[in-house]
Order: sequence, then structure tokens, then C-alpha cells
Amino acid sequence: MHNHVFKTLSLNACYTRTQLLDGSKLRETFFAKALSGANITVPHKEAAFKACDEIRGIAQAIGAVNTIINENGRLIGYNTDADGFLSAIQSFGPLQHALILGAGGTAKALATVLRNNDIVPVILNRSPNRLDYFQSNGYEAYSWETFTLNSYDLIINTTSAGLSDDNLPIDGVLLAQLLSRSRCAIDVIYGKETPFLREVKNAALPYKDGSDMLLEQGVLANHLFMNRTVPTDTIRPIMQESFLY
Ligand code: NDP
Repeated sequence: MHNHVFKTLSLNACYTRTQLLDGSKLRETFFAKALSGANITVPHKEAAFKACDEIRGIAQAIGAVNTIINENGRLIGYNTDADGFLSAIQSFGPLQHALILGAGGTAKALATVLRNNDIVPVILNRSPNRLDYFQSNGYEAYSWETFTLNSYDLIINTTSAGLSDDNLPIDGVLLAQLLSRSRCAIDVIYGKETPFLREVKNAALPYKDGSDMLLEQGVLANHLFMNRTVPTDTIRPIMQESFLY
């Protein structure tokens, strides 16, 4: 995605990847590789937040960073997942209530941006231990044990269930009940049909996988990598071309 933009715009830049086994080594790895920017993904977004010298924008409220820019030796942290997700769900039309499955870094980003945009998010997570952040920030948040059935416009899977296994993010009967009362659904996992999306398809609801979110968070990150010198409307169609390869 990023290299296609750099190449098309004849920029002397390269986007590559590094496996970071220990999140606490993020800063030293970044500087050792003399990077000017980076994206950070599962499971290091919260460690990335801690590694930065300054946090800008919505990342402050989320507590997780997916984009770091080197500004004269200072690491500046941003979160482009949140606004990328918001762009991705525009095609569903107006929404009022959303159920977020999962309570990790992505769920934090989505809950924050939804609430900022007058969509009420409710969180449902497998285990209770990640709910503190949500409850202390005034969100309705439940574990599998405490949740009771309700109606939502949008059901969002942010769990990693289905990423490299064949698991549903919640009990299948409960999911079917939720989908029968919902208007649309999205899985943030991209590039495959997860068990969650299979159930959504069976329920004949409008749905998306995580590709549009991937694109939109990438467009925003690329805009930051290039010091905001190239408009997002220029970056988007070029980046979109890379999805065809
Ligand atoms: P985290 O590791 O922070 O959180 C994972 C969450 O998934 C936890 O709430 C965990 O619950 C839950 N979970 C894991 N396995 C299961 C399971 N088998 N059943 C039910 N719940 C489960 O991950 P992130 O939030 O950072 O990322 C989540 C997903 O979002 C990843 O698949 C990632 O690839 C995707 N993503 C996609 C993006 C895009 O652009 N499309 C952008 C960002 C992320 P518990 O607390 O009980 O362990």
C-alpha cells in the first residue's frame, strides 16, 4: 500500500516490516533502524503509546498508537485506526447504536471515535479484565457473563477470533439473535471470510470486512509519513490500486 504510493509519486522512501518481540524495545528498534515513521500493529499499540514523546489527536483519549512519526528525534504518536474506521462505515448510512465485540486496542479506538461522532458504543468482551478502561471512561461494557440481549444498528467484530482460527467471537446462538435485531455488521479482520462474516452473510445483512478500514487508516498514515505534503485525496486512489495486486 505505502510503497505503491511512494513509487507512483517518485519518492525516495521504503515501507518494510520488522517483528518486534518485546514491546519495550520499540524506541530503540525505531532509532536503530533510523526510521522516519512507522505503523505499529497487534499487540504493540499500547506499548507504542508509552514509547512516544508526544501524543497527538484522538490517540490521547484512546491510549493506543498505530502511527509514529520521527519529528527531529522526537517520536510523535497518532491513531489513524479510529478515523479510518469512521470513514469505512459511512456507507452504512446514519447509525445510533453499535455493539463492539472485543476490548483490545482496536475496540478502544473504535469506541472513542464512535462516541465522538454521536454513535453510542456498547462493549462485549470474553473476559472481564479488559473492561476497566471502558467502564471508567463511562462506556457500557460487559463480559460474556454479564451481557443481556439488546438491539444495535451495527455489530462490529474487533476480536482476533477468526484471524488464524475458525472461532466465532461470541456464542453462535447469541450472535444469531444479535444479527436478527441489527441493520449491518463489520469485521475489522481483512482479506478472508471469518466465521463471524459467514454468520452475517447467512443473516443477509449488509456487511464489510476490514479492507476499507485498512485502506483509510493507511491513507491517513501515509499523509502523516509525507509530512501532510500530499493530500489524502491524491493518496487514496493510488493506494487503492495496490489492493488489485
Ligand atoms: P488485542 O490483542 O488488543 O485484542 C484482542 C481482543 O480479541 C481481546 O478483547 C480478546 O478478548 C479478544 N479475543 C481474542 N481471541 C478471542 C476469541 N477466540 N474469542 C473471543 N474473543 C477473543 O487486538 P487488537 O484490538 O489490536 O486487534 C484486533 C483485530 O483487529 C486483529 O485481528 C487486527 O488484525 C484487526 N485490526 C484491523 C485493522 C484494519 O485496518 N482493518 C486495524 C487494526 C486492527 P480477551 O480480553 O478475552 O482476551
